[in-house]
Amino acid sequence: MGANGKTGSQGSPAMECSEQTALMRRALESARAALDRNEVPVGAVVALDGAVLGAAHNQPIALNDCTAHAELLALRQACAARGTYRLPGAVLYVTLEPCVMCVGAIILARIARVYFGARDPKAGALGSVYDIGRDGRLNHGIEVYGGILEQECAALMRMFFAHRRALEWNSPAPGNAAGCSPASLRDSSPE
Ligand SMILES: [Zn+2]
Repeated sequence: MGANGKTGSQGSPAMECSEQTALMRRALESARAALDRNEVPVGAVVALDGAVLGAAHNQPIALNDCTAHAELLALRQACAARGTYRLPGAVLYVTLEPCVMCVGAIILARIARVYFGARDPKAGALGSVYDIGRDGRLNHGIEVYGGILEQECAALMRMFFAHRRALEWNSPAPGNAAGCSPASLRDSSPE
């Protein structure tokens, strides 16, 4: 019985705007850390009442874990910090529109709102490919705001894939076309 998933709660727009920008910048910092480690540069922050409970970057390669998306790692940190498995009223910031898996976790955690930066037209599940967060058939809805610091978030992704393409062109590896035409922005490896 998800009682905390209200879809109509709105704070003060002016105050929230600066807080949103600051927390998305924090997510961008995490995304840059991923870039430094040759992971797809996605960063996420989970906050409650303005306090950061979790901040993480994408690291499926480093962890050998296909589920190690920034959002899941940040949610796990936040749950551990609060000693609970649900985070009612919490807000998640992420530099790239979340995938189906992450939106599932966001719903399970009863996150109230999600702010994302760049859209993912190939795999985004908050409006691009699917719109799970606002699917009325689920017992928890999420307020969703896309396009926060979108240019900076998208630029980071472009930088990553441009760099990867340059590496591949300089050292062609037969059978490895990853990055030239990624299945999604997040997953640079073909299925
Ligand atoms: Zn994901």
